[in-house]
Amino acid sequence: MNLHVQKKALEEFLNEKNQAGLLKEMRTRDASDMAQDLVDQHITVGCLENRYALVTEIRGALSRIADGSYGSCLGCEKKIADKRLLAVPWAKFCTRCQEAIENQLIPCA
Ligand SMILES: [Zn+2]
Repeated sequence: MNLHVQKKALEEFLNEKNQAGLLKEMRTRDASDMAQDLVDQHITVGCLENRYALVTEIRGALSRIADGSYGSCLGCEKKIADKRLLAVPWAKFCTRCQEAIENQLIPCA
C-alpha cells in the first residue's frame, strides 16, 4: 500500500467532494427555496449527517496515516487488504470485522 497515494486520495476527497459540497449546502437559500427545504428537510439533514460522518472518517484515516497505524484493522489489528483500502481509503476495519459490525456482532470475537 502506497501511503502517499492514499493520503493524496483522502485529501482530495475531503477538499473537493465534501467540504465544497458542505459549504454549498450550508449557504443560506433564498425564500423560494425555503418551502422546498421544509419538504426536503429530513432528507437534507440525513445527507449532511452522512457527509459529516464521512468527513470524520476521512480525517481519522489521515491521522492514522500520520501516526503510522493506517491500514491496520481497529478490530483484530490485522492488515486491511490493499484492495479494500483502494476502494474505501478511510476503512478502519478489515472486511471480516466490518461485516461483523454490520451484523451487530462483536468484532473478531
Ligand atoms: Zn479485523
